[in-house]
Amino acid sequence: MALSHEQSEAAFARARDVLAGGVNSPVRAFAAVGGSPVVIRSAHGATLVDVDGNEYVDYVGSYGPLIHGHAQEQIVTAVTKAARLGTSFGAPTEAETKLAELVLSAYPHAGRIRFVNSGTEACMTAIRLARAATGREKIIKCAGCYHGHADALLVEAGSGAMTLGVPSSPGVPPAVAADTLVVQYNDLDAVRAAFEAHGGQVAAMIVEPVCGNMGVVRPEAGYLRGLRELCDRHGALLVFDEVITGFRLAFGGAQELYDVRADLTTVGKVIGGGLPVAAYLGPASLMDRMAPVGPVYQAGTLSGNPLAMAGGRATLEPLRDGAAYGRLEGLTTSLSAALKEAAQAAGVAEKIRINRAGSMLTVFFTPGPVTNHATARASNTAAYAAFFHAMLEAGIYLPPSQFEAWFVSLAHSDENITATAAAAVEAFRQAAAKL
Ligand SMILES: *Cc1c(COP(=O)(O)O)cnc(C)c1O
Repeated sequence: MALSHEQSEAAFARARDVLAGGVNSPVRAFAAVGGSPVVIRSAHGATLVDVDGNEYVDYVGSYGPLIHGHAQEQIVTAVTKAARLGTSFGAPTEAETKLAELVLSAYPHAGRIRFVNSGTEACMTAIRLARAATGREKIIKCAGCYHGHADALLVEAGSGAMTLGVPSSPGVPPAVAADTLVVQYNDLDAVRAAFEAHGGQVAAMIVEPVCGNMGVVRPEAGYLRGLRELCDRHGALLVFDEVITGFRLAFGGAQELYDVRADLTTVGKVIGGGLPVAAYLGPASLMDRMAPVGPVYQAGTLSGNPLAMAGGRATLEPLRDGAAYGRLEGLTTSLSAALKEAAQAAGVAEKIRINRAGSMLTVFFTPGPVTNHATARASNTAAYAAFFHAMLEAGIYLPPSQFEAWFVSLAHSDENITATAAAAVEAFRQAAAKL
């Protein structure tokens, strides 16, 4: 009994007449898996409801923010209460200071923070600040790491030159891209070579300490510490993009988990509880270079928005004692084990790889270990698309791309995981036909 998607299809057809591609962020259009996206009406806990009334167990979680699940009571109450007091003032509020104190309590080596509206803004500004602080122009990034869509970061490895970046989107000037050096993740030698080839010119290395944007990829032992040492040796700043991992892997993010400190950190997603907020943070010696104290410019009409600050505080407060992370770890470990069993039952266990870090997980349709962009790209995306659609029809909503992380929330239950694994047996069988 196939689910009806009539209302979703009609709603998306209408959207396409007015929104570019029918969406406000490309992955939502299902281009990577084919078919028409389900259009969402509402959500609660771990459950999404589409406009046809179909219910799904949601593993997208708005791509990371919803660590407590959808429409969580305390968050809804806090945001509603804030809205009644005024939605934006363009003036300082105590709510900003309170969320700042809370976020900085998780990153004790950082003394100052600035809130912005998106991870894109946070990363773009961290790069600007790093360039200003070092008086250098080049940056290093890893292939497959995503740091938002600012020009300097929409760059991929060039084919000829060892590391010089080329635009990954039309409209990015090649001259801007050329200042971004691209290396493979988990490859310290490549970073060393980039520093040596561009001696004294590198302002910063920016990296997702645990990757979520090529699917989940963990840092190999010593990788993050090695980056710290290389940046120190070459006078460059280390920027950890913790827009996904901040408050997701641990209260203090990947920096707490791996005990490596970045000079500048970007956070987003979880810190807003589903409202648009992100931030960059670092020691006062760096952050005081920002206007109005210093000369480096960055501003925002809706930055530090009172609804977002209230949502953020209601999200982070309950995570503070760390107990939530044990529960997320337990749930996601069971999910991973149950998926492995399902793959075995479907006879594809040797043809897939499950990467997990805390409550982030990706099932890669490739037999080899996935440790960087090149190995992630070896995945069979047609098999993933078949798996995705079979899961969707069984009421399990996965990211509509092989290269996105699944997110488990505190609203997921053991029953959700059992249902997911049961659906996965048939979905793996359908994917097997493509492998
Ligand atoms: C989502 C994401 C961004 C961009 O954040 P937006 O709020 O979508 O602009 C940056 N870095 C990482 C690691 C992300 O996952």
